[in-house]
Amino acid sequence: MGDLNFDHPLQSNYSPVESLLDPMEFRRQAQMMVDFIADYYENIEKYSVVSQVQPGYLKPLLPKSAPYYPEPIETILKDVQHYIVPGLTHWQNPNYFAYFPSSGSIAGFLGEMLATGFNIVGFNWMSSPAATELESIVMDWLGEILCLPKSFLFSGNGGGVLQGTTCEAILCTLVAARDQMLSRIGKENIGKLVVYCSDQTHSAFQKASLIAGIHPNNFRVIKTTSSTSFALSPRSLRSTICSDIQQGLVPAYLCATVGTTSTTAVDPLGPLCDVTKDYGIWVHVDAAYAGSICICPEFRHFIDGVEGANSFSFSAHKWFFTTLDCCCLWVKDPSALIKALSTNPEYLRNKATDSKQVVDYKDWQIALSRRFRAMKLWLVLRSYGVEKLRNILRSHVEMAKLFEELIATDKRFEIVVPRNFALVCFRVSPSAISEGKTIPSSELLGDNKYINDINKKLLESINASGRSYMTHTVIDGMFVLRCAIGATLTEEPHIIMASEVVKQHADAILNMSTLMIYMGRVD
Ligand SMILES: *Cc1c(COP(=O)(O)O)cnc(C)c1O
Repeated sequence: MGDLNFDHPLQSNYSPVESLLDPMEFRRQAQMMVDFIADYYENIEKYSVVSQVQPGYLKPLLPKSAPYYPEPIETILKDVQHYIVPGLTHWQNPNYFAYFPSSGSIAGFLGEMLATGFNIVGFNWMSSPAATELESIVMDWLGEILCLPKSFLFSGNGGGVLQGTTCEAILCTLVAARDQMLSRIGKENIGKLVVYCSDQTHSAFQKASLIAGIHPNNFRVIKTTSSTSFALSPRSLRSTICSDIQQGLVPAYLCATVGTTSTTAVDPLGPLCDVTKDYGIWVHVDAAYAGSICICPEFRHFIDGVEGANSFSFSAHKWFFTTLDCCCLWVKDPSALIKALSTNPEYLRNKATDSKQVVDYKDWQIALSRRFRAMKLWLVLRSYGVEKLRNILRSHVEMAKLFEELIATDKRFEIVVPRNFALVCFRVSPSAISEGKTIPSSELLGDNKYINDINKKLLESINASGRSYMTHTVIDGMFVLRCAIGATLTEEPHIIMASEVVKQHADAILNMSTLMIYMGRVD
């Protein structure tokens, strides 16, 4: 090292370690990156919303192996633009209506930047007191905005924690419930534990049950029907529970949903909790998508009854302008979580933990290491404030209403389930196809297959146009298009255009299907 000349213009070549986190260099490259991202947002509508690349597109475009020598950021960014951007599906595009939104925002982004910049690992209080304390405070703030009962907040005897995703929130609460029940009935009885959900519950619950060691035969999926808009019926729940008990099984956990993924159905929390309380069943409320809008007083009724549940989660990375990942979980009894998930290795021991005066979030989650996610939420809440957040969410609901109207007034379409939030579920209606045809409609509509195929083709054709991106679900045997409004950049003109895109593609497909029917080819 003695002959290192620090005045040499190429000093960074001689001091590679320093260049990894050199403040000047960071400033230069990070500014370039911010410009790159700002340009991306500025031009986002020019891209096809859904990526049109074919599987395996990337490998031939990139070098066969990792570079041996450093490459400048300028070159790398060029490659991002040329090779990566075409393979992106643009979730931030205002014409994105697929799945549920992944709503970004400046505040969410900047919070992520700060968290990444500090790059602390806040597994316990000691490892970064601000990370833990900010998280607890922000979770109480958010809980209050949602009017969660005090028993879910630190200011009551509960508390909130930021998980990565709903899958983790469900798994953590499920193992807490499992261990709580096993401490009563004995560990050897794990094979008797039964868990409950509806046929509309997110697959995250099935995965969590598998991981938690719930016997696959004891995973109860209760059927829902259109007559209750696909909400879980308390009566069906009770009769399922009763028959399990008769067989000597032990009901342990119910995953209820507010805003199901397919159609945003809402399970009736109050009546469901009235059933479960008789059996000591842990109730988790999964409001991954719809939890956000419950910060508006006029939507809060959708989580009425949550006071009877044991835990509640929603994903701020969906519809709350906080970049992925950020799932907010509140529990009434943190000690149940901690009992199931805590470990105490010597190398993590410290006075603060021993004093029992602090929260060590490593005991509330699966992993040890954890990101400073609270920073994102704190920035979102502070930068926008509750009133503005409410108004933005309301504007999404208004836009969904508009889209619904534009579709419903065209008699070729039908709205398949009542709209609760900002998701519209619709399809080309069977009558649009049978109308004016010489073929008797009964022949066409004997089963859903023909009408489903038409709707599938419609969706494929909309998405292949690149002008709009929607996804589908199948409910009651019907193939249904889902238009989820909530991308941050979406405005009314995008909604009007989306409805026009749908209608134009329906024109083409319905004309084609008329021709096919005429020619006797109904495939
Ligand atoms: C999206 C969704 C999930 C998965 O949520 P993530 O936190 O994004 O993993 C779970 N449940 C419901 C009802 C959802 O809509």
